[in-house]
Amino acid sequence: MSEDAVPETFFLPGPTQVRPAVLAAMQQPMIAHRGRQFEELYSRIQLGLRHVFRTERPVFVGASSGTGMMEAAVRCARPGRVLSLVNGSFSQRFARIARSCGREVDVLEAPAGATVWLEEVEQALRSGRYSALTVVHSETSTGALTDVRAVGALAQEHGVLSLVDSVSGIGGARLECDAWELDLVLTASQKAMAIPAGLAFAVASESYMSHAASAPDRGLYLDLEQFAASAGHHQTPFTPALSLFYALERQLADIAAEGGISARWARHAAMAAVTWEWAEGLTDAVHPELGILAPLGSRSPTVSAITLPAELTSDVVVSTIERSGFVVGGGNGATRHTTFRIGHMGDHTVAGLRRCLEACSDALSELIASP
Ligand SMILES: *Cc1c(COP(=O)(O)O)cnc(C)c1O
Repeated sequence: MSEDAVPETFFLPGPTQVRPAVLAAMQQPMIAHRGRQFEELYSRIQLGLRHVFRTERPVFVGASSGTGMMEAAVRCARPGRVLSLVNGSFSQRFARIARSCGREVDVLEAPAGATVWLEEVEQALRSGRYSALTVVHSETSTGALTDVRAVGALAQEHGVLSLVDSVSGIGGARLECDAWELDLVLTASQKAMAIPAGLAFAVASESYMSHAASAPDRGLYLDLEQFAASAGHHQTPFTPALSLFYALERQLADIAAEGGISARWARHAAMAAVTWEWAEGLTDAVHPELGILAPLGSRSPTVSAITLPAELTSDVVVSTIERSGFVVGGGNGATRHTTFRIGHMGDHTVAGLRRCLEACSDALSELIASP
């Protein structure tokens, strides 16, 4: 994905670098959003989005950041108690949203970098107390990847709706909406999809939608019943963020040109492998406390949190790296000061990532030699 001659320098774990061709697509003129031209655009976009989400169901497109769709997921889920799997700040946010929407919420917590044990999830679900569970696929604050296929299967088995935040997953980490029988999967435009921020997406299962009308106080703007009704005639319920639709249309065409979503997953797997190998090199050659926070087996292919020795804080590391022209992220949540994060997602390439990692190595070596 490197036909554009702009260097890869922006490795923040969201927003991610957007290619000039995608930015340029946004300069197309406005069209009437209740006319046929828009409906055709909407239909083209649906085809591409269903491919990305691995679903035959409509993909709802809303104008908000990811948090808006997290709130929609909770608001429209059938009434009842919620079980929240929390292993970082975004999964924590999901629990907070559920509480703020008036739900009773129980939390299963895992330490930063880890994922909640499946046995613990099963035991909680066996109580029969829950109508829905919330889980984050790729926990962007720590780089931990939860096996949402297994979590979804447990939820299914116990008649509980699975609400999956895959904001930094979809478009980079494998997720099969239909085959894994997940009830609600949501993402946003500015992470692995590599489009500017402002669009949020969700796919809801038949089972989820069949109970949505029974959820009280869904409000209007985030009511997925409205999205479903409009999707029937290739429309959004409210004014679409048209310029972002243009960017999305271009990006979906480019995903197809790359070889489809599985080629994109493979590129992300390759970028993650390069990052892990690089981190191992750091542990051996630079400092034993440098490494990847999440353990092997539950690492996200889109984002890595790098652990730092006690004498370094992430602010210093990030600003030293920035001096060589690369932007990486600081830590987030509980590991705010003790890690920094590299977003290897979106349209980045292995070659571009290697140059960023080299700059990170130089900065870390310099700081550790003379703190
Ligand atoms: C970025 C992100 C969100 C959404 O954040 P917004 O700022 O509202 O787009 C939610 N969950 C995860 C895992 C994220 O990475």
